[in-house]
Amino acid sequence: MKRPEKSIIIIGAGIAGLSAGCYGRMNGYRTHIFEMHHRPGGLCTSWQNRGYTIDGCLHWLVGSSPASNFYRIWQELGAVQGRRMIYHEEFMRIEGRDGKSFIFYTDLDRLEQHMKDLAPGDRDVIEDFSRGLRIFAKYDMPIDKPPELYSLLDLLKLLSTRLPLMRAFMKWKNVSLADFAARFRDPFLRETFPLFWDVPDFSMAFMLMNLAWLHNRSAGYPIGGSLEFSKAIERRYLDLGGEIRYRAPVQKILVENGRATGVRLADDSEHRADYVISAADGHSTIFDMLEGKYVSEKIRTCYEKNPTFQPLVQVALGIARPFDETPPLAAGTSFPLEQPVVLAEKEHRRLPLHIYNFDDTLAPPGKTIVKVMFESDYQYWKKLGESPEHYRAEKERLADTVVALLDRRFPGLAAQVEMRDVATPLTYERYTGNWKGSYEGWLPTTKALFMNMSKTLPGLGSFYMAGQWVEPGGGVPTAAMSGRNVIQIICRKDKKRFVTTVP
Ligand SMILES: Cc1cc2nc3c(=O)[nH]c(=O)nc-3n(C[C@H](O)[C@H](O)[C@H](O)COP(=O)(O)OP(=O)(O)OC[C@H]3O[C@@H](n4cnc5c(N)ncnc54)[C@H](O)[C@@H]3O)c2cc1C
Repeated sequence: MKRPEKSIIIIGAGIAGLSAGCYGRMNGYRTHIFEMHHRPGGLCTSWQNRGYTIDGCLHWLVGSSPASNFYRIWQELGAVQGRRMIYHEEFMRIEGRDGKSFIFYTDLDRLEQHMKDLAPGDRDVIEDFSRGLRIFAKYDMPIDKPPELYSLLDLLKLLSTRLPLMRAFMKWKNVSLADFAARFRDPFLRETFPLFWDVPDFSMAFMLMNLAWLHNRSAGYPIGGSLEFSKAIERRYLDLGGEIRYRAPVQKILVENGRATGVRLADDSEHRADYVISAADGHSTIFDMLEGKYVSEKIRTCYEKNPTFQPLVQVALGIARPFDETPPLAAGTSFPLEQPVVLAEKEHRRLPLHIYNFDDTLAPPGKTIVKVMFESDYQYWKKLGESPEHYRAEKERLADTVVALLDRRFPGLAAQVEMRDVATPLTYERYTGNWKGSYEGWLPTTKALFMNMSKTLPGLGSFYMAGQWVEPGGGVPTAAMSGRNVIQIICRKDKKRFVTTVP
């Protein structure tokens, strides 16, 4: 006789929650997702304003190439079928004052040559960096099972087949971007190299990993933007027979005899299941929905001390101009300002600029979305948000300043602006519930990279966490993998063979 389906409640329809839902259905569980927003995707989203689509997430999608292991996961989730990917020659351009630019080419031979041309005296440092990059580029991500299910034999196999990668990883993991940049004798490289990710303690191992994916053409941009991508996974989930309820914020995770048994929603309704997975924000899951009752010292210290990705301000402009003279760049240009400018209380000497001239689905013909994004202090916005009038005024002021600065770089631009849209850390917090508006969870600093975050909590059975708050470094592929991994762990617990299908 067929065993009755066990049930799983999933909190959150971001990429991790949708992924857990899809794999739960593939493995014969009844799944119900409760999502507080009215659409899927969480941070992986886009929105419309005056005929323009503002993309809120994907600049690059790791696993976009059929040659990478991860592509299989995107196929299983129905996310890549029929989707056009583009691969940029240049990831990012960092302009200097004298017309010189440091370009992060995605091809590593070209990047190496470019760095040597810029700084011939730094040959040895550049070659060391390129050697590291080549090693990282040789290895793909293993996807077959989560680290929690590795046997000693699995670990030994992994180590023996990846020894050079492990060595390179150990060599680079504790080197910060800032420390490495300080090795360059050339002042221009020393200044521009760390702007790859403007976090001084960012681990070089993470940078090399990212550049390796770009080099392997395994981190393309999916045409159509982030919400279309998330909606494809939502469709796959519904086709698999999953249930989802929007505008359904979970307030409390119900616990009986040390086991999670269900959830209580904001409308006071209660829902029960055999398992509960929270794919929502980590802080509110642990400290609000579970009232801080299932926390080890390690978890508490982590939430008190470890740095998170600072939240963002995003000023998006819809501009009646094609920008076809500007090279397409995955992660944009950073250009120096004539005079420093104060944006949201912080002085900026450069402006990071994203021109979406490579995706014509986001703007009407001949027009373009342009974005300026920068990190900003959460507390500043939190305080400002107490006065809706001042909050709105600050957003207007920011948009005015950005338009004026861009008009200097692209004369005539101010008159071509048709749409202005400002998102702040409070926007991210309101729509996704992420702690302090963080856009990617834990920062992969030299200390935090691959810190081991457990997907379970001490003293609480039948409960799992998935998503960026249990996967330091965050990102869309990691979220998808995290949802998949949790279902693998549940299958193992139920002595079921984990299976997947591709639509
Ligand atoms: C500007 C920006 C650029 C980015 N660029 C990239 C990129 O190029 N490549 C990349 O890989 N990643 C990128 N990321 C990061 C990536 O978007 C995230 O790491 C990833 O989407 C996180 O997915 P998640 O499912 O773990 O969490 P989330 O997306 O935060 O999903 C959590 C879901 O839970 C819901 N929720 C929260 N609380 C509750 C509750 N109480 N009840 C019910 N539902 C709840 C939320 O509404 C949300 O839908 C970017 C992010 C941003 C903001």
